[in-house]
Amino acid sequence: MTGSFKKRMLLCCGKQLPKEKMGSKYEEAIAGLTKLLSEKDGLNDAAAAKIKQITAELQGKPTENGVAKDVSVSDPVQRLTSGFLRFKTEKYEKNPALYGELAKGQSPKFLVFACSDSRVCPSHIFDFQPGEAFSVRNIANMVPPYDKKKFPGSGAAIEYAVLHLKVENIVVVGHSCCGGIKGLMSIPDDGCTSSDFIENWVQIGNLARSKVKSELNSAEFTEQCKNCEKEAVNVSLGNLLTYPFVREAVVKKTLALKGAHYDFVNGCFEIWNLDFSLSTSTKV
Ligand SMILES: [Zn+2]
Repeated sequence: MTGSFKKRMLLCCGKQLPKEKMGSKYEEAIAGLTKLLSEKDGLNDAAAAKIKQITAELQGKPTENGVAKDVSVSDPVQRLTSGFLRFKTEKYEKNPALYGELAKGQSPKFLVFACSDSRVCPSHIFDFQPGEAFSVRNIANMVPPYDKKKFPGSGAAIEYAVLHLKVENIVVVGHSCCGGIKGLMSIPDDGCTSSDFIENWVQIGNLARSKVKSELNSAEFTEQCKNCEKEAVNVSLGNLLTYPFVREAVVKKTLALKGAHYDFVNGCFEIWNLDFSLSTSTKV
């Protein structure tokens, strides 16, 4: 039952339909769900209740106190479907001008490098609207140096953002309590690593690690990590300059590079520019 149900949910929710057609398609989806329910024997109460709830949402009847509150993390399909429906009714359908423009293309002003950490989503913390920021997220928000063979994923995103989207700003955002930075600072001095990928990846920030280890040698480990979170951003800003098209755009002043740090423990944000020499930072 699960497979066909999932397929149906994808068909009715994953495809962006013209607004005027949504009503009939949703009716069809609801009819399909009802038929599915009537055909299946042995459907347990919990599954039936979930389908009933999703059916109600498809009919435009939000669940009590919104979607997220009642959603169990053990039911990812329901969580994702409910979340999408909430987005659709509260944002997509209320902003036809915005989504109409975005259907034609994108021209974001920002390329943002942020950590994969679930607490630091750029759209959330900067209140970006769809279309405002092209994003790359990885462990410890690292920008690797220009290397076609070792780092094509990052390189492709930077190339596309700078040469095709012509973003005006690249922002690298570090954050408090970064596990990736902690991992970098925990690598033994002999360089011996135990993970398949993580330590190799975060060693992109080795220069930051060395700087912090030498300048703050006697500081507490957490203090060292805190400093490294910002120093690693500066290493990434330097690495951005190893990309010829980034350098060229920075020299022509069509592109600015910015470092930032978001402290979610204290609710603070700091941002600074890179003008080949680091500028004074602004804290809020
Ligand atoms: Zn992180």
